[in-house]
Amino acid sequence: MKTILVIGNGMVGYKFCEKFVAQPKHEEFQLIVFGEEPRVAYDRVHLSEFFENGDAEKLTLAPRTWYEKNNITLYTNERVTNIHSTNKTVTTLSGKTFAYDYLVLATGSVPFVPPIKGVLKKGVFVYRTIEDLEQTMKFAESIKGGKAAVLGGGLLGLEAAKAVKDMGLEPHVVEFAPRLMPRQLDDDGSLALQTKMNELGISVHLNKATQQILGNGSIQGMEFLDNEQLAVDMLIISAGIRPRDELAKTCGLEQGPKGGIVVDNTMRTSDPDIFAIGEVALYNKMIYGLVAPGYEMAQVAVDQILGENTQMSASIDMSTKLKLIGVDVASFGNPFTTDDEAHTIVFENKLQGIYKRINISKDGKLLLGGILVGDADDYNMLLQLYQNKMTLPENPEDLILGARGGEGSAVGNVMDLPDEAVVCSCESVTKGAICCSVIDNGNESLKSVAKATKATTGCGGCKPMVSDLVTESLKSLGKTVKVRICEHFDYSRQELYDIVKVRNIQNYDELLDAVGQGHGCEICKPVAAGIFASLYNETANMQQTIQDSNDRFLANIQRNGTYSVVPRVAGGEITPKQLMAMGRIAQKYDLYTKITGGQRIDMFGAKLHELPKIWEELIAEGFETGQAYGKSLRTVKSCVGSTWCRYGMDESVSFAIEIENRYKGIRSPHKMKGGVSGCIRECAEARCKDFGFIAVEGGWNVYVCGNGGANPKHAELFAEKVDKETAIKYVDRFLMYYIKTAAPLTRTAAWLEKLEGGIAYLQNVVIHDSLGIAEELDAEMQRYADTYRCEWKEAVENPEIRSRYTHFVNSNEEDNNIEFVSLREQKMPKAWT
Ligand SMILES: Cc1cc2nc3c(=O)[nH]c(=O)nc-3n(C[C@H](O)[C@H](O)[C@H](O)COP(=O)(O)OP(=O)(O)OC[C@H]3O[C@@H](n4cnc5c(N)ncnc54)[C@H](O)[C@@H]3O)c2cc1C
Repeated sequence: MKTILVIGNGMVGYKFCEKFVAQPKHEEFQLIVFGEEPRVAYDRVHLSEFFENGDAEKLTLAPRTWYEKNNITLYTNERVTNIHSTNKTVTTLSGKTFAYDYLVLATGSVPFVPPIKGVLKKGVFVYRTIEDLEQTMKFAESIKGGKAAVLGGGLLGLEAAKAVKDMGLEPHVVEFAPRLMPRQLDDDGSLALQTKMNELGISVHLNKATQQILGNGSIQGMEFLDNEQLAVDMLIISAGIRPRDELAKTCGLEQGPKGGIVVDNTMRTSDPDIFAIGEVALYNKMIYGLVAPGYEMAQVAVDQILGENTQMSASIDMSTKLKLIGVDVASFGNPFTTDDEAHTIVFENKLQGIYKRINISKDGKLLLGGILVGDADDYNMLLQLYQNKMTLPENPEDLILGARGGEGSAVGNVMDLPDEAVVCSCESVTKGAICCSVIDNGNESLKSVAKATKATTGCGGCKPMVSDLVTESLKSLGKTVKVRICEHFDYSRQELYDIVKVRNIQNYDELLDAVGQGHGCEICKPVAAGIFASLYNETANMQQTIQDSNDRFLANIQRNGTYSVVPRVAGGEITPKQLMAMGRIAQKYDLYTKITGGQRIDMFGAKLHELPKIWEELIAEGFETGQAYGKSLRTVKSCVGSTWCRYGMDESVSFAIEIENRYKGIRSPHKMKGGVSGCIRECAEARCKDFGFIAVEGGWNVYVCGNGGANPKHAELFAEKVDKETAIKYVDRFLMYYIKTAAPLTRTAAWLEKLEGGIAYLQNVVIHDSLGIAEELDAEMQRYADTYRCEWKEAVENPEIRSRYTHFVNSNEEDNNIEFVSLREQKMPKAWT
């Protein structure tokens, strides 16, 4: 029996073992693995999840029993210190010697720590192992509320910055280059990302060469080449990696000029019995800091040792998508083509923070690469178009603008991909294999397909596409497809709503424990928050960490990092006294004011720490929150009605005020708007609203499911000539039914479109009580109306909630980075001009 020694029990070393024991011939070999870390191999890609739960077990790739079951001898806490290639043995730090026939070096890399003066001070960390994170978390605890910088604005640095923020520290990213993610983004993409980072509360410092770490013993700050300083209490270094190639020196293996063990396309080093794979291997003069190439290297080494002639791909795809929750960033292929080699199409929406760039071959046929910031939903499809050299649509700009004319997505359907398209590049799983797993092997969920094929189990970036393939394959079998909120809950929003209600679940953690898995994400958390709000009329001040970003501070964050203040002006009616009070407050805090389309007044430009003070003064003048930030009722617009207008058939203003006050505060799957018009001239545009009333001869006509915006939709006539009480009863039930059954982020119009039976079905449920739930809907809406409370009043009166409104976690200092200019006698954020 021959012996293979694997040095390094990291992600790639483990993958080598997994692939090896999957081969029938493996029984002819004895496998011995050495890992220097104290634990078995774990998922480093998802290391940041350790910050959330501190549970190392959850990251484990396979338990020790797996190694035992597969006859693999595993030594953890055992570092190999020498290779003696002449007699084919290795020695370990504990003094043991082992002989080998083949040696596989999977020693990975270490974070590069630049030789900066003072870098060894207490409070400076790297971000690579569970132990690194344990130490970082412990230190962060000791500087609670302090400032922390991350040195390096690359993929890992940004991930670390988000972790710093989640630890309750004030995060700063310091980058040497003039842009973020310099290897993946161009200047405009970086700018868009920077805006997004700022919105997340992460400050970015570009063009900063760190000269010195300041402080006595412990870090107190950083000094840059331009002599500027940044006071920080902690620093995480994420400035690249260096391969762990020290063993090469002990036996004379060829190394690259900047490190790494040189391998050929069979993963052999300069010694044919020694292989190198993963981040230690220098292939094509490059170290690839991603798992997908590492896993391919593992497969090549396995096959080569077993006598197959599998070779490493000549070119390695470095496409990546940032895992940072809250910001979509991806780049694929060649993101930086020049005008000579490609046509570039750019779409930018500064208001929404979206930047998309695609590079198209000169003949317009092929996608060569691209960048997506702010919206990377189409990343996987674009990646496939690029990787499979698929012919582009006639108007390639549709790929980033979306198809016009309603023919569906311009990037095409996942089922149009060729069967051989590699969807999961970490595990080399093709579209054909995924569909076959569903259609031929009966795997009907993402989980079971992942288990059977291993797709999604590497970096996880392909999850949305694999999920789509499972759905489409099931549909092709005529099977009903289960709609899931996200990977953490195997339920639709409606099902979760019922679960929370029936089990009387009170908070997100309880819900996750009861019926979820993993740690949750930015999709399921706000959905759960919405459900708790809907069921218990809980304000967004509660369970702050699961709220949408705008809900966390009860305000919409604006482009320059300031916030808007929008008090409720029910029905658009405002007294001169209130107008003057608003004017006075706006003047005092130097806010830009503008009348909104919803008949109220937006006050822009408030700094975070000013919000409670402004609201305190507004509340004292009788105002309450307008919830312009929430998925909830915005406004009920009205015309002046029969009180003032000679055409008016009824008193629309009073009705609008009554309705707005009835539904204010209710959280719903999406924002809701209402309108009340006193006659069919429709000055309040009630038919463009989620619900609307129009006074006609003999009563009120009720309309539902309309909206303006990007996809305008006229509301449908729901009931004719009903009295006011009946109109309210219908809308009560309609809204409650919508709140209970709509998918997340679905406006009423889109919800109705998907409702089988359409408006007639809805009328049956609401008017004729076909489901026997009318009484329940009535009671729930009444409970809402009876338990409403202004969440801004709650925030200013509660010291704990109020204390959240500081720009800097550990001080009351203002954020002086916000700049304004003057325009039409008001101040505007500098970024807008
Ligand atoms: C926070 C973070 C996020 C990441 N996110 C992504 C991502 O989204 N997508 C992606 O593709 N990649 C990502 N990566 C990179 C990915 O984790 C690495 O590419 C992958 O782990 C490399 O695997 P490896 O086995 O080569 O090295 P490692 O996982 O580092 O394993 C090497 C192991 O060998 C051990 N070792 C070294 N020398 C010896 C010795 N002499 N004796 C015994 N043992 C030794 C080391 O202690 C280590 O345990 C991320 C990395 C980090 C740190």
